[in-house]
Amino acid sequence: MKKIGILAVQGDFAEHIQSLNKLKVEIEEVRLPEHLNDLDGLIIPGGESTSQSRLMDIYGLNTPVIENVRNGMPVWGTCAGMILLAGKLVEPHPVPLGLMDTEIQRNAYGRQVDSFEADVSVPCLSGGNFRAIFIRAPKVVSVGSGVEALSWSSDGDIFAVRQGHMLATSFHPELTNDLRFHEYFVDMVNSS
Ligand code: GLN
Repeated sequence: MKKIGILAVQGDFAEHIQSLNKLKVEIEEVRLPEHLNDLDGLIIPGGESTSQSRLMDIYGLNTPVIENVRNGMPVWGTCAGMILLAGKLVEPHPVPLGLMDTEIQRNAYGRQVDSFEADVSVPCLSGGNFRAIFIRAPKVVSVGSGVEALSWSSDGDIFAVRQGHMLATSFHPELTNDLRFHEYFVDMVNSS
């Protein structure tokens, strides 16, 4: 059975664990580099990207995560996770992992009080629109040619991207009961 790690230093990792438990996937909470051994995939949850980045640095996780993903381990970042996976941020902090060919702007839809929910279309998921929860969400400013948009608004805002074995969403599927994005990532892991 494949094992998926969830970065568990800060943020809503417990909700991702609940979603994966519902799918009967073996999971590992990742706090130290040795927790990355034998993983088939990794989720970086929503939360506060500056705190996550700092804690990853303190626990020595940055380099092994970068190496594992560069070696082909599937990864999925939600919200703060999308920020950490970015190639470049509009803001000077945090320094992203630089794994995806994306430029991301943090908190681009306003402050906590401006958080919102919206039904977004995700053509690669069958079953209709996805109820997306945006909390101080980042915006995808630009993507490289190898990055595929999986969900976008009528204004052209991109909400979900995939670049080969790397997936990022600016919203939080882990805060809903809709497991389709988790199933999509499990499929990526199973087929890698
Ligand atoms: N705005 C947060 C950040 O910059 C991300 C918010 C979230 O993950 N809900 O880290």
